[in-house]
Amino acid sequence: MVLLAIESSCDESSAAVLIDGQIRSNVVATQLIHQQYGGVVPELASRAHQQHIVSVVAEALTRAEVTKNDLNVIAFTRGPGLLGALLVGTSFAKSLALGLNIPLVDVHHMQAHVLAHFLQDPHPSFPFLCLTVSGGHTQIVLVRDYLDMEVIGETQDDAVGEAFDKTAKLLNLPYPGGPLIDKYAQTGNPDRFALPDVDTPGLNYSFSGIKTAILYFLRKETAQNPNFIEENLPDICASVQATLIRILLTKLKRAARETGIKEIAIAGGVSANSGLRRELQQTGEKLGWNVYIPNFEYCTDNAAMIGMAGHYKALRGEFCPQTVSPLPRMEW
Ligand code: ATP
Ligand code: MG
Ligand code: FE
Repeated sequence: MVLLAIESSCDESSAAVLIDGQIRSNVVATQLIHQQYGGVVPELASRAHQQHIVSVVAEALTRAEVTKNDLNVIAFTRGPGLLGALLVGTSFAKSLALGLNIPLVDVHHMQAHVLAHFLQDPHPSFPFLCLTVSGGHTQIVLVRDYLDMEVIGETQDDAVGEAFDKTAKLLNLPYPGGPLIDKYAQTGNPDRFALPDVDTPGLNYSFSGIKTAILYFLRKETAQNPNFIEENLPDICASVQATLIRILLTKLKRAARETGIKEIAIAGGVSANSGLRRELQQTGEKLGWNVYIPNFEYCTDNAAMIGMAGHYKALRGEFCPQTVSPLPRMEW
């Protein structure tokens, strides 16, 4: 089965080719236009997808050494995501499938983040827990099978990726700030500044409190010393990052304890964070977990993971009709 996958939910235009579930190409065009606005501008995102989609798909086919006539199925991100952005990928996938007279598979973006683990070996065995952390989501997912997943904990307000990006904005770092916080944190002291990380019962997250605490902390310090941020950037980044990681891991440990599951994975853009990867590895060694961390290229948005999800759905004959439309708030 030669499968073309298309991802266009946010600010990455991406296409990938999988043959019998094996990745052959994964082309990602990241939209840099948003940097000057400090966040993703939905209308600009959909226009950039329109500009990129033909060349990204062509490049994915070329790198996989196939032509469009070799394709047997097309998978695309149906949601969740930005409506205008999703419309570009969905319309493109539908038109190409119609023209080639081949079936379509609609994919849930967050399920695909989880299934990115099956693009490489070793991969987790079922059941496993996946901490799915990205720009729009923060969830603990109980994965019973490829397409049988249950969200057992999630954020009640902001996503952890937003907490990274909004903190970066307060520190005058360009968007997306998560990777830059990671970079500066590497030379900083995580114990320098104490930030509140009040634990709450259960498996749900909340990041609005810590976000406000960071805002007030920076306001107070810069009132006393206008150069506070410039003079202490690595220590601020390291302290914020350590606090966010502690919040993430406290709930994940609780979920592992409550379910008795020791197969533990992370997925989504924030799983690219080097501190989180290290801490998870260390926690896993202490608690006897098998820990699974995707390669960097499969953490942030990419079509390879959409292809993996599409592959398993296609194997089960779960195709969608030509009348399909995007779902910005697609349910699990
Ligand atoms: P979603 O998947 O929830 O729809 P999204 O697709 O925008 O949201 P991803 O592309 O999966 O999210 O992840 C982007 C997020 O990951 C951004 O918030 C970005 O700052 C964050 N991120 C990427 N790399 C790192 C890093 N090294 N450290 C911290 N955060 C990071
Ligand atoms: Mg993105
Ligand atoms: Fe994503």
